[in-house]
Amino acid sequence: MTTFSFSLHSTETGPLATTSRPDVLHIPLDGMTPILGVGDQVLGGTKVALANADDEGDMHAAFAGTIRAVHSYAMVIEVQGKERVSPLEPCADTGDQLRSWLKDKGVCVRHLVKAATLILNAVPPEPGISIYDTLLRDHRKTVERGLEIVQRIVEPNAMYLAIAKGNRANAFTNCTVVHIPPVYPNGLDPLVIRAITHQEVLPGMLPDNGTILSIKDLYLIGRIMETGRSLTETVMTINTENHRVAVGTPVGFLASQIPVTVQPGDRVVIGGPLRGLTAVNLEQGVGKTASGLQILHPDEAMKTTDKFCLGCGECERHCPARIMPGLISRCAEFKQFKRAETYHIHSCMECGLCAYWCTAGRPLLQYIRLAKYELALLAGAALPPRPAAETLIKSQSGDQPC
Ligand code: SF4
Ligand code: SF4
Repeated sequence: MTTFSFSLHSTETGPLATTSRPDVLHIPLDGMTPILGVGDQVLGGTKVALANADDEGDMHAAFAGTIRAVHSYAMVIEVQGKERVSPLEPCADTGDQLRSWLKDKGVCVRHLVKAATLILNAVPPEPGISIYDTLLRDHRKTVERGLEIVQRIVEPNAMYLAIAKGNRANAFTNCTVVHIPPVYPNGLDPLVIRAITHQEVLPGMLPDNGTILSIKDLYLIGRIMETGRSLTETVMTINTENHRVAVGTPVGFLASQIPVTVQPGDRVVIGGPLRGLTAVNLEQGVGKTASGLQILHPDEAMKTTDKFCLGCGECERHCPARIMPGLISRCAEFKQFKRAETYHIHSCMECGLCAYWCTAGRPLLQYIRLAKYELALLAGAALPPRPAAETLIKSQSGDQPC
């Protein structure tokens, strides 16, 4: 079994580095409708796609260039010439007008709602992801700028800053610091919400009259104000270093920046070690929500099997949602997706602990994600776009179906 620490203590990684400009961007279009086509010229900050959901941010190009291809799953832009930017008009509004302005500039506004309680989550989402500490330590002014904008929408009566116990962080004005036990998965939103409000919410839901944003959310909103351009970047821990990365940068290019040579059989994972998703190929571009990138050699990646469930209950013992991952995985295995709902599949926060501890090495998280996907289709959701089969990395022995 792959072993690693579950500690959420800060791993000091030095300042935030800015990744160099790639020659090409592969901007993810999942849940987006492109508004420009092949041959169109763009500037840094030009809007290229509209979000299909009301609370998702629209998509913009990070650099000037020419659109070379538009697939259902990604837009390919050849980066050309000097950096030229499409500047923003500043927004002095508050409330819903400011919320709409941020959505137009690329920000997901799902949690930007008026609420009495505002929770700022600075607990690392996974072991090894250390961006929050770096942002709080070295980019505090930008984070505070983002917080000021958020406060103009949320208008909270009470503010809490959740940090992993033992990590250093100064509170913001009128903000109470809450120390969270520094063990994975305590940084996931539902668990931070429970620790502060004593309310249990389903993943993706908000507590009564409360909302939650991460330090990264605040930083990225602050960057829009500082740079005067739409949201076209994310912040990621790449192996052990923290980087500011343009949205759409191919994972293969990022790997070359560390530098790491990706060998046949390696797995490039976007996200952290327990919840991350394997990139389908080295051209895949990172999205706005990417917080980590890891290159796992075959002996480091978690191995899975197609063995049957032993009914040992080990997965249940480690599940923070207190559900039965083994039973749910069997529902998914035998295509009884609706039955998985009777076992509270929607309470699963996709922490991956059940898969890590499974005695039989079953791919429990993948089964759960498959069942959720099938249930969403049954509920009428549109099929998410996928690259053509020939562009996928050839499956390696032991690969997890993500
Ligand atoms: S991933 Fe597994 S352990 Fe984690 S919440 Fe879901 S069912 Fe429970
Ligand atoms: S840990 Fe694995 S083998 Fe044991 S009950 Fe859970 S799914 Fe079944």
